[in-house]
Amino acid sequence: MAMTHDEYVAYIRERYAALFDPNNSDGDWQYLITINRGWWPLLTDFCEQLEGVLRHHGEIGRWYIRQVKEKFGELRIYVRPAPYERLDIDGFAKWVDDIDPSAPTPVTEMIGIIKEQVIGRAAHICEECGEPGEMRVVEGWYGVCCDKHHAEWIARMAAR
Ligand SMILES: [Zn+2]
Repeated sequence: MAMTHDEYVAYIRERYAALFDPNNSDGDWQYLITINRGWWPLLTDFCEQLEGVLRHHGEIGRWYIRQVKEKFGELRIYVRPAPYERLDIDGFAKWVDDIDPSAPTPVTEMIGIIKEQVIGRAAHICEECGEPGEMRVVEGWYGVCCDKHHAEWIARMAAR
């Protein structure tokens, strides 16, 4: 039987635990990954590559995937630095999660490259089923899908 969305998210949460903030609550996890099953293999690949990059550079636990979603038909993956304590100009410590240093590092460049690759692949893979697809627009909504799911989408919109 095919995996449900909850089962897939549980798998990622356990298998790639190092890539996610351990402080995420179950509630956070409900909305962290919202893409459909056709793109799940892409995310799994991304996690595998990201883990490799972070391990290679000794930065496991310094970067977290914050959100994975579809927007305007595109795959969006948000990777942010782990929160860390920094002294502000008055000498007070505060928790921040911005990019420091702001200049690109080998790790930020690699994250950018693997992200671009996976987003590029998603542009040609049906988000519903994982078959070859392309960007379609139905009544102003964007989505990447195959011919079959394009037809179903149009029928679903017409039936409303
Ligand atoms: Zn499809």
